[in-house]
Amino acid sequence: MTTPLHGQMMDVPLAVSSLLAHASRYFGTTEIVSKRVEGDVHRYTYRDCERRAKQLAQALIALGVEAGDRIGTLAWNGYRHLETYYGTTGFGAVCHTINPRLFPEQIAYIVNHADDSYVLFDLTFAPLVDMLAPQCPNVRGWIAMTDEAHRPRMSTDASCYEALLTEMDGQFDWPLIDERSASNLCYTSGTTGNPKGALYSHRSTVLHALGASLPDAMGLSARDSVLPVVPMFHVNAWGIPHGAPLTGAKLVFPGKDLDGKSLYELMEAERVTCSAGVPTVWLGLLNYVREAGVRFSSLERTIIGGSACPPAMLRMFKDDYGVEAIHGWGMTEMSPLGTLARLNWEQMQRSPDKQRRLLEKQGHVIYGVDMKIVGDGGRELPWDGVAFGDLHVRGPWVIDRYFRHDTSPLVDGWFATGDVATIDRDGFMRITDRSKDLIKSGCEWISSIDIENVAVAHPAVAEAACIACAHPKWTERPLLVVVKRPDSDVTQDELRGFYEGKVAKWWIPDDVVFVDELPHTATGKLHKLKLREQFGDYILPSARKVQNCPLTDEVTAGSGSTPVPE
Ligand code: AMP
Repeated sequence: MTTPLHGQMMDVPLAVSSLLAHASRYFGTTEIVSKRVEGDVHRYTYRDCERRAKQLAQALIALGVEAGDRIGTLAWNGYRHLETYYGTTGFGAVCHTINPRLFPEQIAYIVNHADDSYVLFDLTFAPLVDMLAPQCPNVRGWIAMTDEAHRPRMSTDASCYEALLTEMDGQFDWPLIDERSASNLCYTSGTTGNPKGALYSHRSTVLHALGASLPDAMGLSARDSVLPVVPMFHVNAWGIPHGAPLTGAKLVFPGKDLDGKSLYELMEAERVTCSAGVPTVWLGLLNYVREAGVRFSSLERTIIGGSACPPAMLRMFKDDYGVEAIHGWGMTEMSPLGTLARLNWEQMQRSPDKQRRLLEKQGHVIYGVDMKIVGDGGRELPWDGVAFGDLHVRGPWVIDRYFRHDTSPLVDGWFATGDVATIDRDGFMRITDRSKDLIKSGCEWISSIDIENVAVAHPAVAEAACIACAHPKWTERPLLVVVKRPDSDVTQDELRGFYEGKVAKWWIPDDVVFVDELPHTATGKLHKLKLREQFGDYILPSARKVQNCPLTDEVTAGSGSTPVPE
């Protein structure tokens, strides 16, 4: 065997601390602006942030925290949370962001499973901490992220963040870190079974930050003022707290106020150019700007993901407000970014209609992610935009296994996402459903996402969810559950009629039910499992007819030639 000729380049580890160190040294005066839980707006610079992150590292080390220990956070998007991102990982501890919107029992499970040694929390979550503390005996201390003046009254013996920092001088050098050691821990929302932990490494986090910042991904730059609406407790706010210091972008944190008015006012005040969040948040923002009759003066683009973005929303951003809305897809197990819908030069020469149809999909992979769709027996399916199958991914920021699970979830080296998708000739991926949300009508599949997208394009519909209902003849048929806009009196028949010509006839929901609100998961996605439980006994009118008269054939089944309308 011949010995390989090694490159002669510096072996500098990809450490998370290098991102903030870079921003502090080269973008030292760039601002980080935060709306605080205390009620005011706080502003300082990357240089200040690094100094305080070092003070936090010193304080945690003084408390006995060691490399590899997990430090939990229950916090909104804000500067202290950012300091915790770096003040923990910077000396080798693991930053474990916890979603406070989960049920307290799930949070206690997560804290215990992660074996968090300390948990830092925002004032909002003091009552939650009082509930959690007795259930989490291994936590050595709870730290309120505030100053002495705002220290909350609690039954838990919590220490004060600012008091801890004041005792430290910030004279601290980030130690050399093995890039393969763990940096961050995030748990999946766990709508089925217990939440599972994705343990990122320094290497995967830095590579993801680089990939996510690329021009055809989020395209972050030192010319940007970025407002992540996506919470820092949900998959590291899609990597923005890492990508912003890497590129030198100004950061604007909204704190706990995520309603349309608060977001709009902060965007205008801080000249925000780029934002990112889930569709439900944008619904609130768009409703506000429409009702208030205001326009965006600085916002150039927004990344929309976490659940399928209705095409009507993309159109509204672009056509009514001149804001580029970029549809993206990813998951906790992928750090999270996988694809974004952005066109290449050749695609931009196509007709506006063809461009629009590409942009409605979940998009093209960014470098670092490889994807394929597979059918029965793991057979790879063609990229024709029609064939749909299980979406598998792999890459340096995709998990290899779950934290503290012995068995690998990989199939032939690929991670099975649980999503069902098509990929077209352009390499644009379109999610047709979560595999468990697809509706099986006869021997054909119906995409619940497509049915919902049509429904929310109707002016009288505020939100819609489509689920499968048992059917004696077709196995399952779609039921549409709708929240109407205030003052609308749309009927079931009108809504069903709205589908004519938009989807195959046999995709039209058999029934429409109006409700006051739909259940959501802790990450703002439609909670289909809960909805299915809620409508578990529901009998569709078409099912009743079949039961009464087996020969009645109300539903025209699909032929199988066009499983998914493009
Ligand atoms: P999470 O791990 O909580 O971020 O959830 C990841 C899951 O959210 C994915 O596997 C998808 O099912 C769903 N998801 C994320 N982005 C999108 C999107 N743009 N369209 C449809 N589903 C999405």
